[in-house]
Amino acid sequence: MNAHIIDGRALRDALMPTLAERVKALSRPPVLAIIQAGDRPDSTAFIKAKKSCAAKIGVAVKHIHVSETISQADLRTVIEACNADEAIHGLIVQLPLPPGIDRTAMIEAIDPRKDVDALTSRRVKEWLEGKRGAIMPATARGIRTLLAQNGIPLSGAKAAVIGRSMLVGKPIMAMCLAENATVTVCHSQTPDLSRITAAADIVIAAAGKPGLVGKEHVRTGQTIIDVGINTVLGDKLDDEIEGRKLVGDVDFEAVRNIVAAITPVPGGVGPMTVVSLFENLLDLYL
Ligand code: NAD
Repeated sequence: MNAHIIDGRALRDALMPTLAERVKALSRPPVLAIIQAGDRPDSTAFIKAKKSCAAKIGVAVKHIHVSETISQADLRTVIEACNADEAIHGLIVQLPLPPGIDRTAMIEAIDPRKDVDALTSRRVKEWLEGKRGAIMPATARGIRTLLAQNGIPLSGAKAAVIGRSMLVGKPIMAMCLAENATVTVCHSQTPDLSRITAAADIVIAAAGKPGLVGKEHVRTGQTIIDVGINTVLGDKLDDEIEGRKLVGDVDFEAVRNIVAAITPVPGGVGPMTVVSLFENLLDLYL
């Protein structure tokens, strides 16, 4: 039987009018500042996707593009200027940062009241605690919405999360726990990955390894959420990254006839991450 394809693009498009309404109801349109250090094509593509979503819902984006060779002190000054600017409501420091710049120090320099990515320690504590209404990193929020809107309950489910990064794996883990799933977090040193994933009801793959999850990792009835965004050169396939072919961590063709539901790459988690970022911005604004 063919799996139900969980369509992140369709859900994103369905959520946009509500976001646009929320923006319209505000006295001043929100402004999101994005600081980009350097010219990584993937970062440029992600920023373009954010700008495109912002334009559709009436949010202004201030793209502050600085050189890859900027010093840490100068980057901190740029961040602090955004913190102090009352016309800016949300602030993103686009990651990864150039070599030699301390990511943690730069994240901590962001005013938590403007931290739409929920990466400052105050925000991390809130989502890790499972505090009600906590702002959480957009990928985790997007997956929560995607599962809920597709009628796939996390409560009581066994979830296997592959990946333990602060940006992706851990927020997803915390989100699943807050939704009352029983969670196993797997990583590069986890032995016998397939035994753990096959025992789960929901597998969330966020390793950045194309083809990591194959048919030996899955079983019938499962939901597979593929967070991986891996680029290989190819034709333009998507609005997420131009000029690249995107593949996830899951061997989609190998597992689609086994599992119950699966997100495609592109068109699954990626569009939901972008829309969830703007939900975070509006939640912070209010
Ligand atoms: P990362 O490199 O920081 O972390 C990868 C994690 O995967 C690590 O914890 C590592 O232990 C684990 N891992 C690596 N190889 C493994 C293996 N063979 N078996 C089990 N675990 C393994 O990457 P990240 O920043 O966490 O991003 C992960 C992926 O998610 C990337 O492909 C990234 O592009 C993608 N991503 C997608 C979205 C989205 O919206 N879809 C958003 C952010 C990141």
